[in-house]
Amino acid sequence: MIVFDRVNKYYGDFHVLKEINLTIKKGEVVVVIGPSGSGKSTLLRCINRLETISQGSLSINGLNVADKKTDINKLRRNIGMVFQHFHLYPHKTVLENIMLAPRKVLGQSEEEAKKIALKYLDKVGIGDKANSFPSQLSGGQQQRVAIARGLAMGPEIMLFDEPTSALDPEMIGEVLDVMKALAHEGMTMVVVTHEMGFAREVADRIVFMDEGRVLEEATPAEFYANPREERARLFLSRIL
Ligand code: ADP
Ligand code: MG
Repeated sequence: MIVFDRVNKYYGDFHVLKEINLTIKKGEVVVVIGPSGSGKSTLLRCINRLETISQGSLSINGLNVADKKTDINKLRRNIGMVFQHFHLYPHKTVLENIMLAPRKVLGQSEEEAKKIALKYLDKVGIGDKANSFPSQLSGGQQQRVAIARGLAMGPEIMLFDEPTSALDPEMIGEVLDVMKALAHEGMTMVVVTHEMGFAREVADRIVFMDEGRVLEEATPAEFYANPREERARLFLSRIL
């Protein structure tokens, strides 16, 4: 579903992604870990072309992401993204935040968009917050709204960039639980996170990045029991 083939990316002279080869199949959950600055966010952002690659090829469902002829809006509709900071519109209600893109981009009717928004709000466990404003919600609730907003577009792929890093510790669990449920339903997910419990329980594969390279790719069991790379070992010893 997602294929990186010898992908390189530069920011000016800075070589941020180096010869990335990575294949993610439908329904897989891949957790990306690695030190700050190793290129994890850039890797995710290339998938929905928030960043463009410099060399190599990247395809999503057989569509070449770098090709100018590829319909980028169609590509993005199929890929939901959840960020560390929730990026909700403060002056819109929870329901309005979720309905916005389905109305504008998918052309759904008010009624249809509302029905779908309420369905996903229920799914993330905050159906009762539909008419609240983001500022009236906790961080964990706001992040769940952001997930519902992504799901309302009916994507086949969900990308998560450190979705719990900005949350108070007591709210991390509720967001991870929503993500776990999504994984169990077969959503294809690429998740940048340092939540090792989540990775261990949910990930099909762990990808360890360092200085722009994928240094190691393994199942959680293999990775935690015996990381092959010294840098991965060092990284794990720091965060566990
Ligand atoms: P991570 O998410 O692993 O912390 P990033 O992908 O955000 O890493 O960044 C990787 C490197 O690229 C960092 O050194 C960062 O400073 C640099 N970088 C990120 N975005 C830009 C940009 N738009 N322009 C120049 N350098 C960038
Ligand atoms: Mg990052």
